[in-house]
Amino acid sequence: MAVDIENPYNVAVAQFDEAAERLGLSQAMRAILRKPKRELIVNFPVRMDNGDVEMFTGYRVQHNINRGPAKGGIRFSPAVSLDEVRALAMWMTWKCAVAGIPFGGAKGGVICDPHNMSRTELERMTRRYTTEISIIMGPNSDIPAPDMNTNPQVMAWMMDTYSMHQGYSVPAVITGKPLAIGGSEGRLEATARGVLIVTREALKDLNMIPERCSVVIQGFGNVGSVTARLLADFGCKIVGLSDIKGGIYNPAGIDVHMALRYSKEHGNLSGLPGTERVTNAELLELPTDILIPAALENQLTVRNATRVKARLIIEAANGPTTPGAEEILYDKGVTIVPDILANAGGVTVSYFEWVQDLQRFFWDELEINERLETIMTRAYYATRHKAKEQDTNLRMGAYLLAVARVAEATEMRGVYP
Ligand code: GLU
Repeated sequence: MAVDIENPYNVAVAQFDEAAERLGLSQAMRAILRKPKRELIVNFPVRMDNGDVEMFTGYRVQHNINRGPAKGGIRFSPAVSLDEVRALAMWMTWKCAVAGIPFGGAKGGVICDPHNMSRTELERMTRRYTTEISIIMGPNSDIPAPDMNTNPQVMAWMMDTYSMHQGYSVPAVITGKPLAIGGSEGRLEATARGVLIVTREALKDLNMIPERCSVVIQGFGNVGSVTARLLADFGCKIVGLSDIKGGIYNPAGIDVHMALRYSKEHGNLSGLPGTERVTNAELLELPTDILIPAALENQLTVRNATRVKARLIIEAANGPTTPGAEEILYDKGVTIVPDILANAGGVTVSYFEWVQDLQRFFWDELEINERLETIMTRAYYATRHKAKEQDTNLRMGAYLLAVARVAEATEMRGVYP
């Protein structure tokens, strides 16, 4: 397998091409949907705490906006690249279409190492980046949200910066904000809650009993850590966890609430009493019923897929499995709940946040969670039904649904002028 297939944009396009072929889309429609609509590259200076000025590069890519405003997160990481952002933007288009929420897809990022920046440096970088991309942002045009290494505080700075330029507050331009400035109940937990819902439904389909299932989760950020807690409360046995420092393992089960407290106190999970240390690579190959990659792209590849032991993989991260790895896993009988379905809970509650901000009318957490439940179960069963009907896997089922919806909207709107 060529290494290049692990360029996330190549992976995203290959997945789309397969769906387009099965759907019999016209060459023109394929050409339109393969390319992002807009790609903005910004190079900008930031004054660091020591007085030096450093240049940063950031991106905002809008893949498709035919079903609604562009929507998608912002990530801060040294690994950010234009191709990564393009892939993530395309996946957002399909994700919003699978969930049936009226948004198109976008993504943004800044190449930086947020762990080696002070809070004031992070704030200045965030505000300047927001100013640079504000030319394509707006509550009706492009609505950013959190992603890797960004959080409600970063969203607050982004919302404030955009609002300062307008001269009045525009809460609906950003989602994932703190509650105090128009954030939504349930948004912090939303991605993990969606992961819990699809895991629950997939377990039913596979006749697996939650109380008898072991779970390994890669990543202990907002998605991984909350997923661990919700699945433990659901009755599953969490046997492996990891963060950027490495993994921990206990075949008898990890006390997740203790792990959460420990990670908060120590900054990472390493050395949690009663657990054995494993590398991030070993973690993915641990004996477990369920494996949940909740970190980065390209974690399950042709190099490790044969050694993966899980029966069920829930893609809480975006793009964690390469197409080559996927083939190997299907041959072994593994079920994969794909990213564009599994992690759609985040953007779904982002949609609720945006609607609440536009209406200036806020819902309680129960209402948010009930509506999330409805959307996620509907998306899961629509995907499963499509996969069965077309005799294919869940990823292709989700793609067939999503790409058909976006293609229909694109077709109806026609080619301008
Ligand atoms: N970054 C999240 C994702 O990958 C959420 C995006 C959003 O809420 O707009 O789905």
